[in-house]
Parts: sequence; C-alpha cells; structure tokens
Amino acid sequence: MTDPIALGSTIGILGGGQLGRMLSVAAARLGFKTHIFEPGANPPAGDVAHAVTTAPYEDAAALAAFAAACDVVTFEFENVPTAALDLIEAQVPIRPGREALRISQDRLTEKEFLESLGLTVAPFADVPDIAAMEAAVARIGAPAILKTRRFGYDGKGQARLRTAQDAAAAFAQMGDAPAILEGFVDFSHEVSVIAARSTTGEVACFDPGENIHRDGILHTTTVPARLTAAQRTDAVLMAAKILNALDYVGVLGVELFVTPKGLIVNEIAPRVHNSGHWTQNGCMVDQFEQHIRAVAGWPLGDGTRYADVVMENLIGDDMDRVPALAKQPDTALHLYGKAETKPGRKMGHVNRITR
Ligand code: AMP
Repeated sequence: MTDPIALGSTIGILGGGQLGRMLSVAAARLGFKTHIFEPGANPPAGDVAHAVTTAPYEDAAALAAFAAACDVVTFEFENVPTAALDLIEAQVPIRPGREALRISQDRLTEKEFLESLGLTVAPFADVPDIAAMEAAVARIGAPAILKTRRFGYDGKGQARLRTAQDAAAAFAQMGDAPAILEGFVDFSHEVSVIAARSTTGEVACFDPGENIHRDGILHTTTVPARLTAAQRTDAVLMAAKILNALDYVGVLGVELFVTPKGLIVNEIAPRVHNSGHWTQNGCMVDQFEQHIRAVAGWPLGDGTRYADVVMENLIGDDMDRVPALAKQPDTALHLYGKAETKPGRKMGHVNRITR
C-alpha cells in the first residue's frame, strides 16, 4: 500500500505517441503534470504535456534528469530498453512494474507465463533459429503463424505459413530473428478486455470490446461484444488473474480469441490499449483516467459502460473524412495532431454512440 502522490505532482511518461497524449490530457484533468520522454522530435504528446525531454533511451544523463523531475514514471510503449528502466527505477517508482514489461517484451516468455496461470493460449513452439523450424512445424502443423519474439506490433514481425513448405521463406522474411511458431486458431471473433489494478490491489475491468483488424491493424472496436454471460465472466476473471499474478498497477489490455471451446489469450499489452479508446465516450471514467488514477495511487474510478459505442481508427488517408465526420451526430472525434499523414499511420479515431 502506497500513499497517493500529491496533487500537482509530475507523472513521467516514456513514449510520446497518441497514448501518451491522451494519458497527459487525463492527468491534467486530475490536476497532475506530465513529462514526456521520447527520442523522436515533435511527439504528439508534447502538445499537451508540461515538459518534454527529447533524447534517446541510451542517454543516461537525460534519463537521470527526467527521473529527477518526476514523482512516478509510467510508459505508453512496452519496448523501452531494460537499461533505461534500471536507471529510472533507481530514482523513482515505475508503474506498472518491471515484471509486466519483462514478460510482455518477449512473446515466448509471455506465452509461458500465461500457460503457468492455467490460461489457454495457441499451441506454440520456440524457434531460436532456422534449424529449429523443421521440428516446430512438425509439432505445430500448418497453417501457422511465425512471430518474432520481440518488437512485434500491429501485425509487424509476423509471417503466415499456409503449408510446411513455407517455413524457410517465413523465417527469412522476418530477418532470421528468434521467433515462436503459433498454431492457427480458428476463432469466430476477437475481443479484448481493458483491465485496471490499483496500488491497493483493487481490480476493475471495462466491458469487453469486439475487435476487427484490417492488414494487421485494429480497424474497429464495438461494445458490447458478442459474448455469452459466461464468456464475459471468464474474460474478466482471466484479466484479473493476470493482473494479480504480476502485482500490476495501471491499465492492461488482454486480447482474446473467441472459439467454440472457450477463450484463448492472444497477447497482453501492459499499457492503455487502442481497443479501449471507446471508453472515452462510453464511460464516466475512461481507460486513460483509470491508468492515471492507478499510477497516482488513487482508488479506481467507475468504468461502467453507459452507451453502446463503435470506435473506428482513422488511418492514413482516412483523415480526408474528418470534415464529414465532424458534421455527424453522436460522433466524437479524437485526433492526434500528427503533422504528416502516412499510409498505415494511426492519425486519430472516432467514437460513435450507437445506442
Ligand atoms: P498479434 O500481433 O499477435 O496481436 O496478431 C495480430 C492479429 O493476427 C491478431 O489480432 C489476429 O487477428 C491474427 N492472429 C495472431 N495470432 C493468431 C493465431 N495464432 N491464429 C489466428 N490468427 C492470429
């Protein structure tokens, strides 16, 4: 049990993308300041934060000065180098803690962790090098998906195997990086649970959302998701189990496949999650405020869903639709202020209240 940080305190955020931006807005609304640490110039979060440090994660002096300026540090991106975290943690608490990052940075460690909790994951095999590929394909079969152990996101670092013959090409496509081979899950649809845990161990989950991906990138999240009452309970219990096992503080996203045999965990993200953006217009307290509350040592807020919502990501040229979307009723626009529109780049999202 930890005392809440004082009002007016500074919350450091590693990463300055749209998640850091929306966390900063939520923090400001609760009377906190945010300080962004981001290697890239002009980060979207910089527009709404109290301070920004522009430096690489290898810059020890910049990290030390950043930590000295913060009362607690969190992150919006899980691939922060371990050495940077060591440096920060020597000066100021990091929430959620290191264990959640260690596990989610590596798909193999993550799968083993989830299995150790008794949760169902897709069948998987370790593929450290091309020599291990044959045995992995023999065990997992085809179709299958090869995923790099580290640094994969939005469908990147993945190659599909239609048949066993695709194995060598798939490994080469991923730059010969250590990987896992995952059996193809025949799911009916995908859902996610956005869950939160406070410093006192209190757990709260938002209503699960149903997710549709296009080209490996989230396209829409719809709430309520198509789930039976039993599946809904299962999803929430699974998320709580993960949070408690990690002694987690903050918001975590759990992506699940829905199959006739039950729910299968695809992956976890130790941060606010794109599939939780609907909460901004569907709940009294959204995922960003919930995360800030947890990290600040506050009690969790009321995340009860009071509307049906469809969240749609605005990607690349979808920005051309903004003038038309701005005229639509029951529609809330959230734009990230990114200077340059690029194909595949998340530029904003829109939440439509459907009931
Ligand atoms: P990931 O980066 O692991 O979240 O994967 C991105 C998307 O690829 C998922 O949301 C699924 O649509 C699909 N996918 C990933 N793993 C599997 C699997 N084992 N079986 C079927 N589809 C998958």
